[in-house]
Amino acid sequence: MAKIEPTKFIWMDGTLVPWDEATVHVSAHVLHYGSSVFEGIRAYDCQGTPAIFCLDAHVRRLFDSCKVYRMDIGFTPEEIKQACIETVKANELPTAYIRPLVFRGSGSIGVDPRPSPVQVIIMTIYMGKYLGPEAIEQGADVCVSSWGRLGHNVFPASAKIGGQYINSQLMKMEALVNGYDEAIAIDENGFVSEGSGENLFLVRDGEIYTPPLASSILRGITRQCVIDLARDLGYTVHEAFIPREMLYMADEVFFTGTAAEISPIRSIDRITIGEGRRGPVTEKLQKEFFGITSGELPDRFNWLTPVR
Ligand code: PMP
Repeated sequence: MAKIEPTKFIWMDGTLVPWDEATVHVSAHVLHYGSSVFEGIRAYDCQGTPAIFCLDAHVRRLFDSCKVYRMDIGFTPEEIKQACIETVKANELPTAYIRPLVFRGSGSIGVDPRPSPVQVIIMTIYMGKYLGPEAIEQGADVCVSSWGRLGHNVFPASAKIGGQYINSQLMKMEALVNGYDEAIAIDENGFVSEGSGENLFLVRDGEIYTPPLASSILRGITRQCVIDLARDLGYTVHEAFIPREMLYMADEVFFTGTAAEISPIRSIDRITIGEGRRGPVTEKLQKEFFGITSGELPDRFNWLTPVR
């Protein structure tokens, strides 16, 4: 969670406008039907220069999501990339959470979104650690949600579409109300899917497991980075269907995501995972990940786009 502190500018439909002027009308289709596609991207403080993490992959996913949702952005991927860079620069933020949002504005009422115009904004805000700074070291307490993930014939889970996030919101609220930090969804076949806003990994006997795309997960950018990083470090990584009980039997479980980065999980449904604190594999991956994103280690996977 991050509180929104206004910045100077928001990029809106091709130009930077002052924060207070970036508004939409209450008749906008998106308000009524959740008709939007979005991204969440981090810019890290890389030795004093903001550096955007996996910008190409995020912009590609934005366009992929729009394609599924029959939405024409009206800008090229290169233009959106430049707009992200320009917005971070204009707001002079040392680190940022970048939120590109493509939505249906005001035009018509009714389920068909196509008569309403497509609008694009890019907002940048400051963001610290998503599950809290302690969670990065101590681990989060999570539950398996009573809300499941729908199948791919209901919602295209690997597209990041606004309306689909009602499911994540239900999961997150239920978890917080019941005293947990986060929830894990089960897919329609009974396998582990993901968190409300994170992908999930587990470690058992030194090997790493993560649910496949077919378990109704978002195709996480951090997930792919962690798979690449883990393999590079010599770990075997399986993309495999994970039965619920495997969660409790794991030596380590952790979340990945733009906001969550790599966050260990110390308990699930009040069952202690491993030693009940961050495990050695999680710690090793975090060390490399934070080393690269802070600029202390070389960017050997080409993750970063410096904003100069
Ligand atoms: N799953 C869901 C449902 C998410 O919202 C997110 C955050 N975008 C993720 C997984 C993690 O994806 P990424 O690493 O690309 O941020």
